Amino acid sequence: MKMKELVCTGCGHTEPAEELIARCPVCGEPLEFPLMTGGTIRQEHGLLARYLDFLPFKDLAGFKSMGEGGTPLVPMDRLAGELGLRSLWLKNESQNPTWSFKDRGTAAGILHAIKSGISQVGTVSTGNMAPSVAAYAARHGLKATILVKAEMAAEKAGPIAIYKPDLIRVQGDYGRLYEESLVIGKRQAIGFINSDVPMRVEGSKTLAFEICEQLEFRMPDLVVVPTSSGGNVRGIEKGFREFMEAGFIDRIPKLIVAQAAQCSPIHNAFKIGEERIARFESKGTIAHAIENPLPPSGNQVLRMLGRNGGFTAAVTEEEILTAQSRLASEGLFGQPASAVPLAALYRLKDEGRLEGVERAVVIFTGSGLKASGVLSRQGWKERTCRLEELSEAIKNGGS
Ligand SMILES: *Cc1c(COP(=O)(O)O)cnc(C)c1O
Ligand SMILES: [Zn+2]
Repeated sequence: MKMKELVCTGCGHTEPAEELIARCPVCGEPLEFPLMTGGTIRQEHGLLARYLDFLPFKDLAGFKSMGEGGTPLVPMDRLAGELGLRSLWLKNESQNPTWSFKDRGTAAGILHAIKSGISQVGTVSTGNMAPSVAAYAARHGLKATILVKAEMAAEKAGPIAIYKPDLIRVQGDYGRLYEESLVIGKRQAIGFINSDVPMRVEGSKTLAFEICEQLEFRMPDLVVVPTSSGGNVRGIEKGFREFMEAGFIDRIPKLIVAQAAQCSPIHNAFKIGEERIARFESKGTIAHAIENPLPPSGNQVLRMLGRNGGFTAAVTEEEILTAQSRLASEGLFGQPASAVPLAALYRLKDEGRLEGVERAVVIFTGSGLKASGVLSRQGWKERTCRLEELSEAIKNGGS
């Protein structure tokens, strides 16, 4: 590996990067790679190849890409008009191989495992990370251990099981499972690619790199990110910082951490100026993918927002459903978590907080097909008719 050290985001302690380690042994906060700011954007497709100079790998030998990354940045002109913005874009991460942005961090984590001579990987997940890790492990001939909640529904288990991982339903406190898996992983040489481990943050940087390139290095004012563990928003911010230091861009957009009000530990702490996250008693949200009551990167996200000048927003279940429907009216079907950034922008507008904001990007994190259960709450109109009456029925219209 190019980078020899990981640095603690909390206290600055350093650890050798060869180890399977994600947490600072001194203060318990997340470790991450130092900024990588030298080098160029290579004229290659595929995120690991294109941004290799900014990733902790010397080469990609052993990695079998599935075309992750390189997702479209879609202009949302009509919604921009409603919001009073000059431009709004949507980064469509549902176009990744397993239909969410998680494939970026998984790709980096899998390559790291291969380079470290590890033959087994794993993750703790109830949502998109589980199928992502299982899929990439299968493709690379690695064993995968996927730890899920005991009561996970069968319709969520099936799309993980198809890749034939060792799928384990774990009874007990789900919150403790995350840290426990990292400890077991270190002991048994299993690379747990959990939501905010250093490699996942490295993978998420490529989201920022692509936005810079797609906007021809003219930075938007805001980038809005639906946030749970905090790993993704940390990666995006780190990516912008690296491109700034490398001289590609001249300013860093403000990052907006968007959460569901029903489970909003980062928003709550930020609002009252706390430096540390407190456990949130989740009231349950349709945005399952961002329902983490005690985000492992929460404290670091607060520190990051302080440095970045960004802020948080929390939205109700109704606002999420409305945003999901608004996205569909532009042809895009996202799972509820993916609609949270747009919902946050409408709320910010209502609160008068979009004054002076001209250009914004929302991160559309995952496909709507992953959460079809919520569709019964959208309500829809349909009709039935007999074949003999079809011509009349169509003529009469559906109004
Ligand atoms: C994982 C996930 C998130 C949250 O990302 P974090 O890195 O945990 O903050 C948001 N949306 C979707 C669809 C996800 O799968
Ligand atoms: Zn530390």
